[in-house]
Amino acid sequence: MRLALVLPCYNEEAVLPTSFERLTALFDTLTAEGVVSADSFMTFVNDGSGDRTWELIREQAARDRRFRGISLARNSGHQNAILSGMMAVRDECDAVITIDADLQDDLAAIRTMVEHFKQGSDIVYGVKVSRKADPLLKRLSAQSFYKMQSAMGVNAVYNHADFRLMSRRAVDMLADYPERNIYLRGIVPTLGLRQTTVDDVISERAAGESKYNLVRMLTLATNGITAFSTRPIQLILMMGGVFLLFGLLMAVYILGSFFSGHTTTGWTSIMMSIWIIGGAIMLSLGMVGVYIGKIYTEVKRRPLYHIAESVGFNA
Ligand code: UDP
Ligand code: MG
Repeated sequence: MRLALVLPCYNEEAVLPTSFERLTALFDTLTAEGVVSADSFMTFVNDGSGDRTWELIREQAARDRRFRGISLARNSGHQNAILSGMMAVRDECDAVITIDADLQDDLAAIRTMVEHFKQGSDIVYGVKVSRKADPLLKRLSAQSFYKMQSAMGVNAVYNHADFRLMSRRAVDMLADYPERNIYLRGIVPTLGLRQTTVDDVISERAAGESKYNLVRMLTLATNGITAFSTRPIQLILMMGGVFLLFGLLMAVYILGSFFSGHTTTGWTSIMMSIWIIGGAIMLSLGMVGVYIGKIYTEVKRRPLYHIAESVGFNA
Protein backbone atom coordinates (compact mmCIF):
# COMPACT_ATOMS: atom_id res chain seq x y z
CA MET A 1 0.00 0.00 0.00
CA ARG A 2 1.61 3.22 -1.18
CA LEU A 3 0.86 6.05 1.22
CA ALA A 4 1.24 9.76 0.53
CA LEU A 5 1.22 12.23 3.39
CA VAL A 6 0.19 15.83 2.66
CA LEU A 7 1.26 18.53 5.11
CA PRO A 8 0.27 22.20 4.70
CA CYS A 9 2.91 24.63 6.00
CA TYR A 10 2.55 28.34 6.60
CA ASN A 11 5.57 29.93 8.28
CA GLU A 12 6.54 26.68 9.96
CA GLU A 13 10.36 27.04 9.99
CA ALA A 14 10.42 26.61 13.77
CA VAL A 15 8.65 23.27 13.83
CA LEU A 16 9.74 21.67 10.53
CA PRO A 17 13.08 20.18 11.69
CA THR A 18 11.29 18.32 14.52
CA SER A 19 8.52 17.23 12.15
CA PHE A 20 11.04 15.89 9.59
CA GLU A 21 12.73 13.87 12.33
CA ARG A 22 9.51 12.41 13.72
CA LEU A 23 8.19 11.55 10.26
CA THR A 24 11.43 9.88 9.20
CA ALA A 25 11.22 7.66 12.29
CA LEU A 26 7.54 6.93 11.64
CA PHE A 27 8.09 6.03 7.97
CA ASP A 28 11.07 3.83 8.88
CA THR A 29 8.91 1.82 11.28
CA LEU A 30 5.85 1.65 9.03
CA THR A 31 7.92 0.40 6.09
CA ALA A 32 9.97 -2.02 8.18
CA GLU A 33 6.77 -3.54 9.53
CA GLY A 34 5.23 -3.73 6.08
CA VAL A 35 2.31 -1.42 6.93
CA VAL A 36 3.12 0.84 3.97
CA SER A 37 5.33 0.20 0.96
CA ALA A 38 8.86 1.60 0.70
CA ASP A 39 7.88 4.02 -2.09
CA SER A 40 5.46 5.86 0.22
CA PHE A 41 6.25 9.55 0.53
CA MET A 42 5.43 12.88 2.18
CA THR A 43 4.55 16.11 0.38
CA PHE A 44 4.98 19.40 2.20
CA VAL A 45 2.92 22.24 0.76
CA ASN A 46 4.48 25.64 1.37
CA ASP A 47 1.48 27.97 1.52
CA GLY A 48 3.23 31.22 0.64
CA SER A 49 5.36 31.38 3.78
CA GLY A 50 7.45 34.46 4.44
CA ASP A 51 10.13 32.60 6.37
CA ARG A 52 12.59 29.79 5.54
CA THR A 53 9.89 27.10 5.28
CA TRP A 54 10.48 26.40 1.57
CA GLU A 55 14.27 26.29 1.95
CA LEU A 56 13.92 23.74 4.74
CA ILE A 57 11.58 21.60 2.61
CA ARG A 58 13.96 21.72 -0.33
CA GLU A 59 16.93 20.79 1.83
CA GLN A 60 15.03 17.86 3.29
CA ALA A 61 13.90 16.68 -0.16
CA ALA A 62 17.53 16.69 -1.27
CA ARG A 63 18.52 14.65 1.79
CA ASP A 64 15.76 12.02 1.66
CA ARG A 65 13.85 11.05 -1.48
CA ARG A 66 10.73 10.25 0.55
CA PHE A 67 10.30 13.97 1.18
CA ARG A 68 8.74 16.14 -1.52
CA GLY A 69 7.59 19.73 -1.69
CA ILE A 70 5.18 22.02 -3.46
CA SER A 71 5.37 25.77 -3.12
CA LEU A 72 2.25 27.80 -3.79
CA ALA A 73 2.76 31.18 -5.41
CA ARG A 74 0.98 32.99 -2.58
CA ASN A 75 -0.76 32.28 0.72
CA SER A 76 -3.90 30.47 -0.42
CA GLY A 77 -5.16 29.26 2.95
CA HIS A 78 -5.12 25.96 4.82
CA GLN A 79 -7.94 24.31 2.81
CA ASN A 80 -6.47 25.19 -0.58
CA ALA A 81 -2.99 24.13 0.52
CA ILE A 82 -4.32 20.68 1.50
CA LEU A 83 -6.27 20.41 -1.74
CA SER A 84 -3.28 21.33 -3.92
CA GLY A 85 -1.19 18.65 -2.18
CA MET A 86 -3.84 15.97 -2.64
CA MET A 87 -4.29 16.81 -6.30
CA ALA A 88 -0.53 16.69 -6.88
CA VAL A 89 -0.08 13.22 -5.39
CA ARG A 90 -3.31 11.42 -6.23
CA ASP A 91 -1.95 9.59 -9.30
CA GLU A 92 1.00 8.20 -7.38
CA CYS A 93 -0.52 6.60 -4.31
CA ASP A 94 -3.24 4.31 -2.99
CA ALA A 95 -4.29 6.69 -0.24
CA VAL A 96 -3.54 10.19 1.04
CA ILE A 97 -3.38 11.27 4.66
CA THR A 98 -3.59 15.00 5.33
CA ILE A 99 -2.06 16.20 8.60
CA ASP A 100 -0.91 19.59 9.89
CA ALA A 101 2.82 20.19 9.61
CA ASP A 102 3.12 20.89 13.35
CA LEU A 103 2.18 17.22 13.98
CA GLN A 104 -0.14 18.13 16.86
CA ASP A 105 -2.26 15.19 15.77
CA ASP A 106 -1.66 11.67 16.94
CA LEU A 107 1.01 10.06 14.72
CA ALA A 108 0.07 6.63 16.09
CA ALA A 109 -3.35 7.06 14.46
CA ILE A 110 -1.74 6.90 11.00
CA ARG A 111 -1.15 3.16 11.39
CA THR A 112 -4.79 2.63 12.44
CA MET A 113 -6.00 4.71 9.50
CA VAL A 114 -4.00 2.55 7.08
CA GLU A 115 -5.40 -0.59 8.69
CA HIS A 116 -8.95 0.70 8.18
CA PHE A 117 -8.08 1.50 4.57
CA LYS A 118 -6.85 -2.05 4.06
CA GLN A 119 -10.12 -3.31 5.50
CA GLY A 120 -12.00 -1.39 2.86
CA SER A 121 -12.67 2.12 4.17
CA ASP A 122 -12.27 4.92 1.63
CA ILE A 123 -12.27 7.70 4.21
CA VAL A 124 -10.96 7.63 7.77
CA TYR A 125 -11.48 10.69 9.97
CA GLY A 126 -9.21 11.54 12.88
CA VAL A 127 -11.54 12.61 15.66
CA LYS A 128 -10.13 14.61 18.55
CA VAL A 129 -10.81 12.72 21.76
CA SER A 130 -8.76 14.95 24.01
CA ARG A 131 -8.09 18.64 23.59
CA LYS A 132 -6.23 19.03 26.87
CA ALA A 133 -3.23 20.44 25.05
CA ASP A 134 -5.30 23.17 23.39
CA PRO A 135 -5.71 26.52 25.18
CA LEU A 136 -9.12 26.99 26.82
CA LEU A 137 -10.29 29.69 24.40
CA LYS A 138 -9.39 27.55 21.40
CA ARG A 139 -11.16 24.53 22.85
CA LEU A 140 -14.33 26.47 23.65
CA SER A 141 -14.46 28.27 20.30
CA ALA A 142 -13.82 25.08 18.34
CA GLN A 143 -16.42 23.11 20.26
CA SER A 144 -19.12 25.77 19.93
CA PHE A 145 -18.31 25.93 16.23
CA TYR A 146 -18.87 22.18 15.78
CA LYS A 147 -22.16 22.42 17.68
CA MET A 148 -23.30 25.46 15.69
CA GLN A 149 -22.38 23.65 12.50
CA SER A 150 -24.60 20.68 13.24
CA ALA A 151 -27.41 22.95 14.48
CA MET A 152 -27.29 24.64 11.08
CA GLY A 153 -27.65 21.28 9.37
CA VAL A 154 -24.11 20.89 8.02
CA ASN A 155 -23.24 17.23 7.65
CA ALA A 156 -19.72 17.28 9.17
CA VAL A 157 -17.98 14.94 11.59
CA TYR A 158 -17.97 16.33 15.17
CA ASN A 159 -14.50 17.27 16.47
CA HIS A 160 -12.79 16.34 13.23
CA ALA A 161 -10.41 18.86 11.65
CA ASP A 162 -8.43 18.00 8.53
CA PHE A 163 -6.49 14.98 9.82
CA ARG A 164 -7.94 12.37 7.50
CA LEU A 165 -7.16 9.46 5.21
CA MET A 166 -8.73 9.43 1.77
CA SER A 167 -8.36 6.63 -0.76
CA ARG A 168 -7.27 7.51 -4.27
CA ARG A 169 -10.85 6.93 -5.38
CA ALA A 170 -12.12 9.44 -2.82
CA VAL A 171 -9.58 12.07 -3.88
CA ASP A 172 -10.49 11.50 -7.53
CA MET A 173 -14.13 12.12 -6.65
CA LEU A 174 -13.19 15.24 -4.73
CA ALA A 175 -11.44 16.53 -7.84
CA ASP A 176 -14.83 16.70 -9.55
CA TYR A 177 -16.12 19.36 -7.18
CA PRO A 178 -15.72 22.67 -8.99
CA GLU A 179 -16.64 24.94 -6.11
CA ARG A 180 -14.46 27.83 -5.01
CA ASN A 181 -15.47 28.21 -1.37
CA ILE A 182 -13.83 24.95 -0.53
CA TYR A 183 -14.63 23.47 2.89
CA LEU A 184 -13.29 19.94 2.91
CA ARG A 185 -14.84 18.91 6.23
CA GLY A 186 -18.25 19.52 4.67
CA ILE A 187 -17.61 18.06 1.22
CA VAL A 188 -15.84 14.81 2.15
CA PRO A 189 -18.81 13.29 4.05
CA THR A 190 -21.04 13.99 1.03
CA LEU A 191 -18.91 11.80 -1.26
CA GLY A 192 -20.92 8.84 -0.05
CA LEU A 193 -18.03 6.43 0.35
CA ARG A 194 -17.39 3.92 3.12
CA GLN A 195 -16.05 5.88 6.08
CA THR A 196 -14.97 5.38 9.64
CA THR A 197 -13.22 7.27 12.45
CA VAL A 198 -10.14 6.81 14.61
CA ASP A 199 -9.22 8.52 17.90
CA ASP A 200 -6.83 11.44 17.70
CA VAL A 201 -5.14 12.66 20.88
CA ILE A 202 -3.97 16.24 20.36
CA SER A 203 -0.60 17.28 21.77
CA GLU A 204 1.00 20.68 22.11
CA ARG A 205 2.84 22.38 19.29
CA ALA A 206 6.51 21.34 19.41
CA ALA A 207 7.59 24.80 18.22
CA GLY A 208 6.27 27.94 16.57
CA GLU A 209 2.87 29.53 17.05
CA SER A 210 -0.64 28.75 15.85
CA LYS A 211 -1.27 30.20 12.39
CA TYR A 212 -4.99 30.32 13.06
CA ASN A 213 -5.75 33.73 14.55
CA LEU A 214 -9.28 34.82 15.44
CA VAL A 215 -9.97 36.25 11.97
CA ARG A 216 -8.87 33.04 10.21
CA MET A 217 -10.98 30.93 12.56
CA LEU A 218 -14.06 33.11 12.05
CA THR A 219 -13.57 33.00 8.27
CA LEU A 220 -13.37 29.22 8.30
CA ALA A 221 -16.41 28.98 10.57
CA THR A 222 -18.52 31.32 8.42
CA ASN A 223 -17.49 29.49 5.28
CA GLY A 224 -18.14 26.12 6.87
CA ILE A 225 -21.73 27.08 7.54
CA THR A 226 -22.68 29.32 4.63
CA ALA A 227 -21.10 27.01 2.04
CA PHE A 228 -23.36 24.13 3.05
CA SER A 229 -26.47 25.45 4.71
CA THR A 230 -29.18 27.97 3.89
CA ARG A 231 -30.63 27.69 7.37
CA PRO A 232 -29.35 31.17 8.40
CA ILE A 233 -31.58 32.65 5.70
CA GLN A 234 -34.53 30.63 6.95
CA LEU A 235 -33.88 31.93 10.46
CA ILE A 236 -33.82 35.50 9.18
CA LEU A 237 -37.08 34.86 7.39
CA MET A 238 -38.65 33.61 10.61
CA MET A 239 -37.30 36.59 12.51
CA GLY A 240 -38.79 38.85 9.85
CA GLY A 241 -42.18 37.24 10.47
CA VAL A 242 -41.92 37.82 14.21
CA PHE A 243 -40.94 41.46 13.72
CA LEU A 244 -43.83 41.99 11.31
CA LEU A 245 -46.29 40.62 13.86
CA PHE A 246 -44.79 42.87 16.50
CA GLY A 247 -45.05 45.83 14.09
CA LEU A 248 -48.76 45.13 13.52
CA LEU A 249 -49.43 45.05 17.26
CA MET A 250 -47.53 48.33 17.55
CA ALA A 251 -49.71 49.79 14.76
CA VAL A 252 -52.88 48.92 16.69
CA TYR A 253 -51.43 50.54 19.78
CA ILE A 254 -50.29 53.65 17.88
CA LEU A 255 -53.68 54.06 16.13
CA GLY A 256 -55.39 53.59 19.49
CA SER A 257 -53.28 56.40 20.95
CA PHE A 258 -54.06 58.57 17.92
CA PHE A 259 -57.84 58.19 18.23
CA SER A 260 -57.81 58.81 21.94
CA GLY A 261 -55.92 62.06 21.30
CA HIS A 262 -52.55 61.27 22.86
CA THR A 263 -50.53 61.62 19.64
CA THR A 264 -47.41 63.13 21.14
CA THR A 265 -46.95 60.15 23.42
CA GLY A 266 -46.70 57.91 20.30
CA TRP A 267 -43.21 59.19 19.60
CA THR A 268 -41.53 56.47 21.70
CA SER A 269 -43.31 53.59 19.99
CA ILE A 270 -42.69 54.95 16.50
CA MET A 271 -39.03 55.43 17.24
CA MET A 272 -38.90 51.94 18.69
CA SER A 273 -40.40 50.33 15.61
CA ILE A 274 -38.11 52.28 13.32
CA TRP A 275 -35.12 50.99 15.20
CA ILE A 276 -36.25 47.40 15.50
CA ILE A 277 -37.41 47.03 11.91
CA GLY A 278 -34.39 48.93 10.66
CA GLY A 279 -32.16 46.52 12.53
CA ALA A 280 -33.97 43.49 11.16
CA ILE A 281 -33.70 44.77 7.59
CA MET A 282 -30.03 45.43 7.97
CA LEU A 283 -29.38 42.00 9.41
CA SER A 284 -31.31 40.31 6.60
CA LEU A 285 -29.50 42.31 3.96
CA GLY A 286 -26.21 41.31 5.51
CA MET A 287 -27.11 37.64 5.43
CA VAL A 288 -28.36 37.77 1.86
CA GLY A 289 -25.16 39.59 1.04
CA VAL A 290 -23.07 36.69 2.32
CA TYR A 291 -24.73 34.36 -0.16
CA ILE A 292 -24.51 36.81 -3.03
CA GLY A 293 -20.82 37.11 -2.22
CA LYS A 294 -20.49 33.38 -2.60
CA ILE A 295 -22.35 33.34 -5.90
CA TYR A 296 -19.99 36.04 -7.05
CA THR A 297 -16.84 34.07 -6.26
CA GLU A 298 -18.31 30.83 -7.63
CA VAL A 299 -19.17 32.31 -11.02
CA LYS A 300 -15.71 33.78 -11.43
CA ARG A 301 -14.24 30.27 -11.66
CA ARG A 302 -10.77 31.40 -10.75
CA PRO A 303 -8.13 28.74 -10.11
CA LEU A 304 -7.79 28.02 -6.41
CA TYR A 305 -4.00 27.93 -6.51
CA HIS A 306 -1.02 27.86 -8.81
CA ILE A 307 1.96 25.71 -8.04
CA ALA A 308 5.05 27.83 -8.46
CA GLU A 309 7.69 25.16 -7.90
CA SER A 310 8.02 21.55 -6.82
CA VAL A 311 10.79 19.18 -5.87
CA GLY A 312 10.97 15.42 -5.84
CA PHE A 313 8.39 14.94 -8.59
CA ASN A 314 9.31 13.22 -11.85
CA ALA A 315 9.28 15.49 -14.87
N1 UDP B 1 -1.70 26.67 7.47
C1 UDP B 1 -1.61 26.87 6.09
N2 UDP B 1 -2.04 28.05 5.57
C2 UDP B 1 -2.55 29.05 6.34
C3 UDP B 1 -2.66 28.83 7.74
C4 UDP B 1 -2.22 27.63 8.28
O1 UDP B 1 -1.16 26.00 5.36
O2 UDP B 1 -2.89 30.09 5.79
C5 UDP B 1 -1.23 25.39 8.04
C6 UDP B 1 -0.25 25.48 9.20
O3 UDP B 1 1.08 25.59 8.74
C7 UDP B 1 -0.49 24.16 9.92
C8 UDP B 1 -1.97 23.92 9.69
O4 UDP B 1 -2.36 24.75 8.58
O5 UDP B 1 0.24 23.10 9.36
C9 UDP B 1 -2.83 24.24 10.89
O6 UDP B 1 -2.46 25.48 11.43
P1 UDP B 1 -2.14 25.67 12.97
O7 UDP B 1 -1.37 24.51 13.50
O8 UDP B 1 -1.49 26.99 13.13
O9 UDP B 1 -3.59 25.70 13.58
P2 UDP B 1 -4.07 25.12 14.98
O10 UDP B 1 -3.49 23.75 15.13
O11 UDP B 1 -3.56 26.08 15.99
O12 UDP B 1 -5.55 25.11 14.84
MG1 MG C 1 -1.64 23.10 14.93
